[in-house]
Amino acid sequence: MESPKTNSVPLKRYPLELEVILESVQDIAHSIVAPNAEEIDREGFWPEESIRALQSASLGGLTIPEEFGGLGQGSFGILRVSEILGQECASTAMCFGMHCVGSAVLSAKATPDQIDRYLTPIVQGKHLTTLSLSESGSGSHFYIPDTKLEATSNDQYKINGNKTFVTNGSHADSYVISTVAAEPDAPIGQFSCIVVSDDAKGLKWGEAWDGLGMRGNSSRSLDLNDVLVPKSDLLGEEGDQIWYVFQVVAPYFLMAMSGAYLGIASSAIEIAREHLIKRNYSATGSNLSQFTVLQHRLGTLWGNLERTRRLAYHAAASFDSGDPDSLPAVFTTKAEVAECAVTIVNEVMTLTGGMAYRNGSKLHQLLRDARASHVMAPTTDMLRIWTGRTLLGQPILGA
Ligand SMILES: Cc1cc2nc3c(=O)[nH]c(=O)nc-3n(C[C@H](O)[C@H](O)[C@H](O)COP(=O)(O)OP(=O)(O)OC[C@H]3O[C@@H](n4cnc5c(N)ncnc54)[C@H](O)[C@@H]3O)c2cc1C
Repeated sequence: MESPKTNSVPLKRYPLELEVILESVQDIAHSIVAPNAEEIDREGFWPEESIRALQSASLGGLTIPEEFGGLGQGSFGILRVSEILGQECASTAMCFGMHCVGSAVLSAKATPDQIDRYLTPIVQGKHLTTLSLSESGSGSHFYIPDTKLEATSNDQYKINGNKTFVTNGSHADSYVISTVAAEPDAPIGQFSCIVVSDDAKGLKWGEAWDGLGMRGNSSRSLDLNDVLVPKSDLLGEEGDQIWYVFQVVAPYFLMAMSGAYLGIASSAIEIAREHLIKRNYSATGSNLSQFTVLQHRLGTLWGNLERTRRLAYHAAASFDSGDPDSLPAVFTTKAEVAECAVTIVNEVMTLTGGMAYRNGSKLHQLLRDARASHVMAPTTDMLRIWTGRTLLGQPILGA
């Protein structure tokens, strides 16, 4: 019997629209993302060709509602798309994922003017956006920004502050930036997001991204000095981002990241499976796949991946169906996926012996990429805390 591939989840079990979307993503993943992955990791290039291919295939509006011309996909759609891309290149999955999360935030309470200037060009594949929440002063507590938003006239704001780790940094056409009005006593989470165009005056990018892994992300720092933005670019009302955090940012962001890291884990298992099948010893005439202990270890890794993947699919689907109790599962998913990806890649590194340990091996890249999963906010620690607080009926956000 021919053994099934471990990293191929059948596409044809979803509603027709998603099935078509996933087939298109799979084609791009095989034909463009995979061939570029090694160079992106080696040279630290932003995945231009892959992102443009996804936009050209009308996938840029993945998370934009159908009423605005988008594909109307929720957190399940972004999870599956990220998983497919993440199997070939986690950086590409993350860069495209951050665009989709930014698009979802832009869509949530879009005004007619924002639909015209942002959502329509995104749907047309002409505009890339991204989410910029992190700052060095708040670190993992991304919901306590220090970047100041100050009204200078009836129709204009001035922004001053410093952002860190802006994925797609200097490549996007717009940045969804978190800010806080100059009210020192504002409660935690009462911040505001605003869209800043890439050609706004007063933007200064930090050094090129040179990470251990996720080397294509272009996750750069950004200084905003007296950046003037029309008030019409505010998303929702001033201070109402707490609603966005739990209704849009958390589910979309967590599922985009979970997909990318599930992709890494399934690629690693496939490398292990192929190695066990192909590795022969001329000295004894035996083959690695014949050893029961290795069969057992491969089976255990697959079980870890499969239960984590099922948790992710369940959490996303229940969030999308409006289940009010889905948040703990959504939080826990990314924490579990991070544990799963790091464990699996590490174990596969042992299973595949010295060959995978050399510089330039695919597993070398997967190991480095997987390590970002715990520290990308919401971090594993924060997600465990959020889940516990939810179960205890306590306010989720805190210092
Ligand atoms: C590759 C990459 C891409 C990124 N892309 C983006 C992006 O596109 N947009 C964006 O906004 N940000 C992005 N980030 C930023 C990322 O989200 C931050 O790394 C994250 O916010 C962690 O901040 P920090 O590095 O300051 O960690 P720290 O805040 O210094 O945390 C260090 C450790 O302490 C733990 N910790 C902190 N506080 C607590 C607490 N109260 N209780 C228990 N444990 C705690 C954390 O979990 C973490 O493990 C990216 C980061 C990376 C590495």
